[in-house]
Amino acid sequence: MAACGGIDLHQEHGQRAVFCGLTGIVWLHRKIQDAFFLVVGSRTCAHLIQSAAGVMIFAEPRFATAIIDERDLAGIADANEELDRVVTRLIERRPDIKLLFLVGSCPSEVIKLDLSRAAQRLSGRLAPVRVLNYSGSGIETTFTQGEDACLAALVPELPRAPAEEAPALLIVGALADVVEDQFLRILSAMGIADVRFLPARRAGAMPAVGRNTRYLLAQPFLADTARALDERGARRLAAPFPLGAEGTTGWLRAAAEAFGIDDATFAAATAAGRARAETALAPHRDKLGGKRVFFFPDSQLEVPLARFLARELGVALVEVGTPYLHRAHLAAEIEWLPAGTRVTEGQSLDDQMDRCRAARPDLTVCGLGLANPLEAEGLSTKWSIELLFTPVQGYEQAGDLAELFARPLRRRALLEV
Ligand code: SF4
Repeated sequence: MAACGGIDLHQEHGQRAVFCGLTGIVWLHRKIQDAFFLVVGSRTCAHLIQSAAGVMIFAEPRFATAIIDERDLAGIADANEELDRVVTRLIERRPDIKLLFLVGSCPSEVIKLDLSRAAQRLSGRLAPVRVLNYSGSGIETTFTQGEDACLAALVPELPRAPAEEAPALLIVGALADVVEDQFLRILSAMGIADVRFLPARRAGAMPAVGRNTRYLLAQPFLADTARALDERGARRLAAPFPLGAEGTTGWLRAAAEAFGIDDATFAAATAAGRARAETALAPHRDKLGGKRVFFFPDSQLEVPLARFLARELGVALVEVGTPYLHRAHLAAEIEWLPAGTRVTEGQSLDDQMDRCRAARPDLTVCGLGLANPLEAEGLSTKWSIELLFTPVQGYEQAGDLAELFARPLRRRALLEV
């Protein structure tokens, strides 16, 4: 146990129950519209992404799995040759692909397939198509780290912003297009004209980054990406995350302060959105106020979500589990958590299940694998992965974010009636 900004911080090690980083492909393939994600993995990996993103039946899919079979595992076949053949055929058949990610998995790590060399080799052969690689393996990672690894792989490829360029704002983390557009409108109303996004919507439009880049993280799970941007000379703006009215205001204020925007301009640009968010949140406060919520560690969004629920909706936090607690990136969030909040970093699944069962919270936020057993025991649950698939950031989505937590309670109340 340790003290950290007034919270009651515990660290646990043991069995974990989380999805792997391949899951990120489900939202990343929608975001970068001319990219393709080729998982180099097993049938299990293929099943995972096919069922997680099983909506692709009628479209040309933008992800697939190159299956490592028994011959590859036994070292009989040359996995590199097979990979080259699969990739070449894919690019010939799909000229719309401009950026190809080779996504590593547990099996590709086990047979030590060097995907970074494969990506270099294939980039040379298939130019102008860029081939990059990252790992989505489930060995010691959580599902949102797939996005972090993907964006970190993009950073060395980004154009270098010239040293004499005026400061630009970079927003880092995959956001729904509609959310990006809303932020662009507010930032432009403040007078910040040069706003870039990582990832961009198209491979050829990735943002230039240099010493004059100031960046805001839109997601709390981007430690490796932030490190790569820092190495490029960009500077992170310390901020809370844009969840709820308060978080969004704090996040936008960090940009305003970095770009010298005065208070009156900031207030004028944000007042309407903030008022709409507060109006949308009010009815949820009646339903969620005083409810006891327990977070299992899963998405790494837990700390900002807990802060939002506690401060804007009056929720009582029983325990806030998170796979990792990035002290620097989450500093503003930790400060905003109610004093004494129990935060657990890491996981010992059985111990945490015992604590959850003993506390019998009104709502448990957890991964899909835990939700069914807990529901069967009469506990209401919310799938944390839904918070990644749904646009939840910004003023206009604050009400929808609250609704995601209110819905399971309503459902349980109906079932009980
Ligand atoms: Fe399973 Fe590993 Fe494949 Fe993920 S990468 S689906 S954890 S085998």
